Amino acid sequence: MFMHNKRLMYTVRVSESNPKLGSLMLEQFGGPDGELAAAMRYFTQGVADEDPGRKDMLLDIATEELSHLEVIGSIVAMLCKGARGELAEAAKSEADLFATMTEGGESHTLSLLYGGGPALVNSAGVPWTAAYVDTKGEPTCDLRSNIAAEARAKIIYERLINVTDDPGVKEALGFLMTREIAHQKSFEKALYSIEKNFPPGKLPGDDRFSDTYYDMSQDDDGDGFRGSWNSGPGWEFVDDREKQAAVDGGDGSATVKLGKAQKTALENLSKRTASNPDADPTTGAELGRGMTQH
Ligand code: MN
Ligand code: MN
Repeated sequence: MFMHNKRLMYTVRVSESNPKLGSLMLEQFGGPDGELAAAMRYFTQGVADEDPGRKDMLLDIATEELSHLEVIGSIVAMLCKGARGELAEAAKSEADLFATMTEGGESHTLSLLYGGGPALVNSAGVPWTAAYVDTKGEPTCDLRSNIAAEARAKIIYERLINVTDDPGVKEALGFLMTREIAHQKSFEKALYSIEKNFPPGKLPGDDRFSDTYYDMSQDDDGDGFRGSWNSGPGWEFVDDREKQAAVDGGDGSATVKLGKAQKTALENLSKRTASNPDADPTTGAELGRGMTQH
């Protein structure tokens, strides 16, 4: 069950009204790397996880992300609060209201459609979607995605911190950013505490190809750049073009076995749509340009 504590997880002290900044903050409210996406990601994983320790961690972090959603939503609400009253009560001249709402960002959409409250959209007004949640129900895969999701969330917070000089907003964003670092750490520990975590899932992969690096992008001098990602004892480096095609030893073509009726239908299709290399028909394009003679 969920219970609500009326105190925010981190105190939100916004210095002044700034609806434009508020619409930028929506990126972490209803955006792909935002708090709702994070909460739903870990919640969907947590309810299905069989491992009691990992299940508990996922539900702890999912619940914390909802608390972050409340903090970032409150930041948006405070940044828009002044403008919200002015708009609802027509407290300024039309021209002044128009200017405060349209001087950049999506704050006009936020104000007109959502009355200046936080909406489940990103900073460009795109509605939140469950497509942001990529849970697969396999911990060795989901934990890797969670590590990447926390890395992205950290970077978006870092950029938001860089665009505001409001000390209270900076401080609260700094907290939210820091928590994503802590989550990344938990997810990495949880991944590596599964002793067989690579490759993800159960099937081992075909060892003819699992330690091979195909040097597909070559310049005139031959080899591309080398590093630990493609050289050393763990790698077979293949730059011979001949050895990059039909690597299974087959002829590299695509075939399928078909029944008699399907074969006949395909032959008919092939006959009907065959091109005649000797034909040179006059086209509409030529007629339009006055080229009727060949
Ligand atoms: Mn968060
Ligand atoms: Mn997080």
